[in-house]
Amino acid sequence: MTDVDVLIIGGGIAGLWTLARLRRSGHDAWLVESSALGGIQSIASQGIIHGGSKYALGGKLGDSAKAIGDMPRIWNECLDGTGEVDLSAVEIHTRSQLMWSTKSAVSRVAGFFAGKLMEDRMSPLQRADYPAPFNHAAFDGVIYRLNEPVLNTASLMTELYHQLSAFCFKGNVILNADEPTQVTCQDQLSGESMKLNARQIVLAAGEGNESLLGQLHRPTPAMQRRPVHMTLLKSRQLPLVYAHCLSASSNPRLTITSTRVDDETCWYVGGNIAETGIHRNREEQIEACQQELQKVMPWIDFQPCKWSALMLNRAEIQTRGNKRPDSCHVDAHDSVITAWPTKLAFAPRVASGIIDRLGKAGIMPSAHHTARPDWPRPEMATWPWLNTQWS
Ligand code: FAD
Repeated sequence: MTDVDVLIIGGGIAGLWTLARLRRSGHDAWLVESSALGGIQSIASQGIIHGGSKYALGGKLGDSAKAIGDMPRIWNECLDGTGEVDLSAVEIHTRSQLMWSTKSAVSRVAGFFAGKLMEDRMSPLQRADYPAPFNHAAFDGVIYRLNEPVLNTASLMTELYHQLSAFCFKGNVILNADEPTQVTCQDQLSGESMKLNARQIVLAAGEGNESLLGQLHRPTPAMQRRPVHMTLLKSRQLPLVYAHCLSASSNPRLTITSTRVDDETCWYVGGNIAETGIHRNREEQIEACQQELQKVMPWIDFQPCKWSALMLNRAEIQTRGNKRPDSCHVDAHDSVITAWPTKLAFAPRVASGIIDRLGKAGIMPSAHHTARPDWPRPEMATWPWLNTQWS
């Protein structure tokens, strides 16, 4: 039996950020991951470090927008190497994204753009400064620059992997409802077991929290899934784009982020089309996205593109009506802390919440550090679109 102060279960952004903070402050903490470090949602996310602007599209700075407002500042400090986690080696796709509106929707979003609300967060672009693909004569909308960064999620998770994999184990976790802090970690290849005795366990397993709580016979906190049907397109001709297309709705019509894969640019399309696309099959979703893109960028020839679609679940604390929670969630009960960040951007806040709960349970930085048992380490997760089927 190995004794440890804190055992984190799940190596997505919530688990890794918390582990980084705990190790840096001198806590005796380890992490167990059943699959690959980098998470399921985290590596597949669009990498946008929201500051709440898109939640203010309805014209009001609601609770969601207020809760997330400080996150870009905290992340930017980390990206500059002066923050609570060292992300200075992470590839930043852009320090600022764009918000654009088609001409037909300009009048409907004019109030939002002109309002005092967004004054210090975004600035209008002059036509001469429009980047591709908006620097085309056929584009007749408006563009604003928004001070919220977009990160390369593979680079982000790889950096955390490099810093922390020495403190992580790979294995299936078996929990005991009578003794929640006695955790069995089972090697998936040999079937061999390692017993860990933790003072506190942290469930940071995203969607996996549901079955872990089930093993503990705990009906609460209850989890919800909010699926999204993301569309992907790639070609050599596409420019890099990080932009939200606004409409009258309180959700962006499309949110496009991009990555370079070999010599092609791959667009990853979320926003309203991904939310409403959950009832469409793969082919229908691709077709719906093709129509949407053609409407908002009629001057681009999308014919040479290859297409794909991915259905992914967002796992969060349950809310009434399955709505997006306003913030992250941290719950502590009887030596078990359960956490869902709700957004990648909320990683600093979810980690602070967990560390606060650990402090209340008397877990402090320690002179004693458990020697690493000889046990397999997890591999690194990869972007899901590298293994998807293209047509
Ligand atoms: P995950 O990243 O899912 O990690 C959970 C980890 O736990 C996984 O590695 C999994 O293998 C492991 N695990 C599961 N079960 C077990 C078990 N039994 N034992 C051990 N390990 C286990 N948020 C933003 O702020 N900006 C965005 O641009 C953005 N875009 C998104 C786009 C999409 C398509 C999706 C789905 C989400 C997006 N989000 C975004 C939300 C964000 O990705 C998530 O809120 C966040 O990544 C969740 O992190 P997590 O660590 O809780 O979960």
